[in-house]
Amino acid sequence: MNATLVETTSVTVRYGTATALDGVSIRVAAGELVALIGPNGAGKTTLVNTLAGILRPAAGTVAVRGRLGVVPEGRQVFGSLSVEDNLQLGAWRTRQRDTTRIYELLPDLRRVRRQAAGSLSGGQQQMVAVGRALMGRPEVLVIDELSLGLGPIVVANLAAYLQRLNAEDGMAVLLIEQNARLALRLCGRGYVLEAGRVVAEGPSAELRRSPEVIQAYLGNP
Ligand code: ATP
Repeated sequence: MNATLVETTSVTVRYGTATALDGVSIRVAAGELVALIGPNGAGKTTLVNTLAGILRPAAGTVAVRGRLGVVPEGRQVFGSLSVEDNLQLGAWRTRQRDTTRIYELLPDLRRVRRQAAGSLSGGQQQMVAVGRALMGRPEVLVIDELSLGLGPIVVANLAAYLQRLNAEDGMAVLLIEQNARLALRLCGRGYVLEAGRVVAEGPSAELRRSPEVIQAYLGNP
């Protein structure tokens, strides 16, 4: 079994008296692509912020081994800064200045590297957010809503980049998605989060066959 990079054990997170995560246990091993799907308000962003150390669990443990890269919900690029400067901001921890590998992986970014990130399309901005996270040389990348607001072709392109990162660099990815179809196609394994609890987990092929998952997430082609 590959080394575990990210593991939460019975994690509970509360906002005041409201419980956003209720005993959540997930695991991502080196080299894995793992999906976490769930509806609005299920607690997905809360989980990302807990993994990133922004939120502290009221109970349970969070273990992150190795460097974690986070692509936040809504991308959060700095619109007035150039693409290149946005990428450099992702390197504050490693002081890595070399963007060569990023442009190799995301060649569309090289062409627009001097442009203000705010002038780019949503898909290009998502690439900037991914590239910025990669600058920290993460062993595991956590992506909060890759596909949000993007068209199908752009999403397919981004998914292909992730697959390449995984295949060539062995990067592990935790893909947090409302688009279950995409996530369960791309990832080998997945979790279903509903109202702060993991209600199903297993190989994506099994989740795709589960009547509950089909009814709740895959119903409309
Ligand atoms: P979305 O896709 O809409 O962002 P989500 O699955 O990411 O949904 P969270 O944003 O993690 O869900 O929210 C989980 C629950 O916690 C929701 O019921 C939400 O209303 C609540 N919540 C989130 N942030 C806060 C906060 N700062 N204060 C109080 N409650 C919050």
